[in-house]
Amino acid sequence: MSRKAALVVIDLQYDFLPPDGSLAVANGNDVVLPIINLIKNKNQWNLLIATQDWHPKDHISFASQHNTSPYTELSFTHPLKEKDDGDELLTKKQTVWPDHCVQGTHGAELNEQFKKEWDNITEPEKYVVKKGYLQDREYYSCFMDVWGLHKTEMTSVLHEHGITDVVFVGLAYDFCVLNSAIDASRLGFNSYVIKECCRSVYADKVADTDNKYSHAGVKVISINDLSAA
Ligand SMILES: [Zn+2]
Repeated sequence: MSRKAALVVIDLQYDFLPPDGSLAVANGNDVVLPIINLIKNKNQWNLLIATQDWHPKDHISFASQHNTSPYTELSFTHPLKEKDDGDELLTKKQTVWPDHCVQGTHGAELNEQFKKEWDNITEPEKYVVKKGYLQDREYYSCFMDVWGLHKTEMTSVLHEHGITDVVFVGLAYDFCVLNSAIDASRLGFNSYVIKECCRSVYADKVADTDNKYSHAGVKVISINDLSAA
């Protein structure tokens, strides 16, 4: 079977970028130019996807909705109130964040420099996939919410194009890139992440994050590995 590769650019949005992003990832701007160079290399890709975190203003992942401080952990109950075998409501511990990527705001827009190049691309086919728009649940993966209930169009778009290999870049290495790449692997794609085209929320824990990738069968690679592949 011939290999077909998709490049997925995760959440290159102003709220994740310094200097003004509400949830700015340190040194996030460093990845913009390398990612632009990747998307312009049209012979490398059979499909391009850019994702956007896209929240309603009262999204459940915002600390402001819980009268607590950002970056703390809260326990969330299953959106459909499912219970475990012991008749207890299913819960998940999740970090809450500053308000970010609210639909229609500047912070939710894709970086302008990236967007300009993206708009100029005529091939291969490209899609923007939004996630996070259901108010009552968190999304990290661009494939589905954290409970695995609501699926975005990611899987069907990849299948429609016969994609075998999915390569992830963007923000943040330890959250949305990580969970997206893990889901891609779980869903049967060859899943890769280009490490130098990502930055982490918790840069001091990058070794732990590397382990999570390899544990899930995701290959952590560099740009130079692409031409060799
Ligand atoms: Zn979000």
